[in-house]
Amino acid sequence: MIRIAYGYYLLTGRELEVTSGLRTADKQAREMRKKATHGKSALIGLCKSAKLADDIWEAYDNAHKAGTGERGETEAMAAVIRDQVNKREYVSKHLSGYAFDVRNRTMNSCERDSFEAVVQEVLGSLHGHLIEREPGGEPHFHVQFDR
Ligand SMILES: [Zn+2]
Repeated sequence: MIRIAYGYYLLTGRELEVTSGLRTADKQAREMRKKATHGKSALIGLCKSAKLADDIWEAYDNAHKAGTGERGETEAMAAVIRDQVNKREYVSKHLSGYAFDVRNRTMNSCERDSFEAVVQEVLGSLHGHLIEREPGGEPHFHVQFDR
């Protein structure tokens, strides 16, 4: 990530605004709960691993039916996510620390191009990819390294 930030700085003279890096299970659960309130497909559709997301959905659904409220729902989801992380199964790369988000609403088109060019260059040797429109939150680039 430092190489991307430095390359971007060299090209544009600006610093990256990183909005999300390593995420805790609790934070991940809060974000996923917001999706879950819109239904199962809203939650599962976000995730590459349907199996992991499915288990998290079950936790939400059971807590919801038990009437535990937002807090109970979030805690139930966080518990499942924590178990998964302990088994090194990550529903989001943010949980493993191998991903970060960069705010792009404040970038002009030249800066966006510069950012993408730097990311391609750096990721070329590191194996990873750039997701331009990760759902959720304000507009951002999501960069992740595949390990
Ligand atoms: Zn992201």
